Amino acid sequence: MLQVAPERSATIDVENPATGEVVGTVPRMTEGDVHALAARAREAQRTWQTMGFDGRRRILVEARKWLSRNRDRVIETISAESGKPRDDATVELTLGAEALAFWAKNAEGYLADERMRGPAPLLVGRTVVTRYEPLGLIGIIEPWNAAYSLEMLDATPALAAGNAVILKPSELTPLSAELIQEMYLDSGMPPGVFQLAHGDGEAGGAVVDVSDYVAFTGSERTGRKVMERAAKSLTQVSLELGGKDPMLVLADADLERAASGAVYGAMFNAGQVCMSIERVYVEAPVYEEFVAKVVEQVRELRLGASDKAGKVDIGPIIFPPQIDKIEAHVRDAVAKGARVLTGGKRADRPGRFYEPTVLVDVDHTMDVMTEETFGPVLPIMKVADAEEAVRLANDTPYGLQGSVWTADRERGAQLAARVEAGTCNVNDAMVNLAAFAAPYGGRKSSGIGRRNAGAAGIRRFCATQVITDNRRPLKREVLWFPYSPWATRMVRGLVGVRGRFTR
Ligand code: NAD
Repeated sequence: MLQVAPERSATIDVENPATGEVVGTVPRMTEGDVHALAARAREAQRTWQTMGFDGRRRILVEARKWLSRNRDRVIETISAESGKPRDDATVELTLGAEALAFWAKNAEGYLADERMRGPAPLLVGRTVVTRYEPLGLIGIIEPWNAAYSLEMLDATPALAAGNAVILKPSELTPLSAELIQEMYLDSGMPPGVFQLAHGDGEAGGAVVDVSDYVAFTGSERTGRKVMERAAKSLTQVSLELGGKDPMLVLADADLERAASGAVYGAMFNAGQVCMSIERVYVEAPVYEEFVAKVVEQVRELRLGASDKAGKVDIGPIIFPPQIDKIEAHVRDAVAKGARVLTGGKRADRPGRFYEPTVLVDVDHTMDVMTEETFGPVLPIMKVADAEEAVRLANDTPYGLQGSVWTADRERGAQLAARVEAGTCNVNDAMVNLAAFAAPYGGRKSSGIGRRNAGAAGIRRFCATQVITDNRRPLKREVLWFPYSPWATRMVRGLVGVRGRFTR
């Protein structure tokens, strides 16, 4: 019998997961719609590139002013589409504003022509210059957990380099992206340079097809699909994927500080952060005291819907199936012998909330220690020593972040270097996302490529071109191959050099 696919609605309702209220609606774009956006983008990009960096910088500076004028509206929108507390939304806005300031200040230097330095015996008499031209159209595909800040972090350098951008926000949190578009248009950016491809996987796939580079952030599963699809047109991709970030607590650590770091790193945004602390290994002598301090702090966290700053600490679980996964991880751990010291269940209240949870007596047979949980769950494991902690930290397919907590900063740095992750913080958590000049990204299944990353972070959105210039007249050519008179004669013959063979 003929199977008829269920009709998909032409629009997507956006629901606040803290209240269940529908707070907006966006179109569900088709492949055809995305191709139309791309045609418009390619036209607009030429104007944008012609404006030069000075013209583009003016717009980035204006955009930052727009953001301070519209601060409350942006924070309210981030909070409404995701349910997250106002304070978490404020962090997102701040990252966005800082990204505008950083690229407005530094992009010009990163994009300037670069003359090769250093001796190159085979290039005597030549100048070698590398140029950075915009690639054209950059596709940016983002997840729902920190939509606004990630969109700003990726789109700003892509635009600063002179590209047009098609941003595909998550279908769960598309409303703050509309404000980014409004910000740029109000700041004088030509229409078509920054556009939104609203929708689901269909729109996302089409964004891959039309782009010259795809910056993807999301799950490992979708990341693999994006890379496969991009391979068809040999389009470059960066993939910022999931993590299972370990925290290593040594016996000499300041335990008060380490406990606060653990609670902040694991519970910020209800644990829906790729670089959340997802598991903790504590040296045996301080294990009990550390656990007691963590539990005390976690029990104080306030959960709920947020309508003003400072009111709640933990928001809802944004993606409906995610709460089932969190529940399944805790259930699996308990079935295998873990103990719940606090939390351990859905919150008994309206909205999609999970109680902040601390688990002990955990080990690597449990999903909660090996798979990304992406929720407010902190499993803590006792280890004999730092060696065991490092071994377990690396016993994972992921490699996004990690942290080491110790009073001995030198030893901390040495251990951090042995954690197989894109970043490892010593006595800190998550702070590196705001280091725009430093590369942010993962190893192993946590992804490929880097965001932020200073010069490399903007040049990934560029086509490089090398121009060599032979400053000597041809008849006086010097061609010298240090180790082979034979090669020298041959090359001289090939290029028809008749000048004297000299050193
Ligand atoms: P997801 O992979 O389901 O979706 C990400 C985006 O891809 C969405 O916009 C979605 O619509 C789009 N998409 C879906 N199918 C697609 C397809 N076939 N082709 C192209 N695009 C498609 O991820 P999610 O659930 O939104 O986000 C959660 C995940 O993101 C977690 O694993 C988290 O760790 C990860 N994440 C990573 C980072 C990082 O920087 N490494 C940052 C934030 C989140």
